[in-house]
Amino acid sequence: MTEWAAKLDALPRLSLLAQATPLHAAERLSAAVGGPRLWLKRDDLIPTAFGGNKVRALDLVVGDAVSRGADALITGAGPLSNHVRAAAGIAGLAGLDCIAVYWGAKPRRAEGNYRLAVTLGAQVHFTDDPDRASVDREISRKAFEIDARGGRPYVVPRGGACPLAALAHVLATQETLAQCAALGVAPTRVVMAVGGSATLAGWLLGTALLGAPWRIEAISVSRPAEEAAARAHALAEDAAALIGARPNLNAIDCRVHGAFIGPGYGVPSPEGEEAIAAVARAEAIFLDPVYTGKAMGGYLNLLGGGAFADVDDVLFLHTGGAPALFASFPEQAS
Ligand SMILES: *Cc1c(COP(=O)(O)O)cnc(C)c1O
Repeated sequence: MTEWAAKLDALPRLSLLAQATPLHAAERLSAAVGGPRLWLKRDDLIPTAFGGNKVRALDLVVGDAVSRGADALITGAGPLSNHVRAAAGIAGLAGLDCIAVYWGAKPRRAEGNYRLAVTLGAQVHFTDDPDRASVDREISRKAFEIDARGGRPYVVPRGGACPLAALAHVLATQETLAQCAALGVAPTRVVMAVGGSATLAGWLLGTALLGAPWRIEAISVSRPAEEAAARAHALAEDAAALIGARPNLNAIDCRVHGAFIGPGYGVPSPEGEEAIAAVARAEAIFLDPVYTGKAMGGYLNLLGGGAFADVDDVLFLHTGGAPALFASFPEQAS
């Protein structure tokens, strides 16, 4: 084992992901939309707190918190956040309090992920300020408070975007490559949604360290493409440093697309809604309106433009998010 692989292996974790998530051959969907064979990596089926990519990340992040003796996890985002819902559930599993900070005003009705975070017992706070950075300030304040009264707070940055989260997605890359090898398929494109960029950072780093043979097509759902790409590269560099790896990230073929955000983060787009319906009708699998629906909408648009003409197999990351299907309040458009 190389040194970085040994360090990655040795990171504390909760081991919530006992089994690899399925790699689903979406044959009916591929036939319906045309183009390459589509493979869905079903991280939405991770069996804790409704699953999704945030559970993968928190397996390492909360594992780190526990190993440091923390007794309270503090994090935040918008009320639609999958990260906060997963953090509330996993903090509880690990015996930590969860303090959740949301930007904006408390919604009139508790729906979707916000409702689930409350059900899971998180102590929720609203900043009453639509500015997302207000969450960061409130997280710091809460950490200071807990510390001052003798507690052991552990801060997870807004949306869960941190280097340990990226390392969890390196493990996802490793898991997926092994599955592809076992099935005898070699996707030459990976399509994913990008928000806070930890997932993309991990796939970038994993692709570089493991020599995966694919190009990454990343669909931004919130930030301009350049900003999302820069964040992903910075997080990947920091993640690499944690395990003493020196990847050549610039050698990785990665294209970040900023044209599929629609009206704004958390606001459904017509293309995303069409993509959700297409996948549901072909496969009886639900994407979500905030991330994966827009990513699939982006894929279908690029496919229509001929971008995948020479491609046989495409891997699509189903990163979860279905609770947002049951929330009617939109995030603030950015
Ligand atoms: C957070 C999230 C993403 C994006 O992951 P980042 O690491 O924040 O870029 C994609 N899909 C779903 C369902 C998510 O909750």
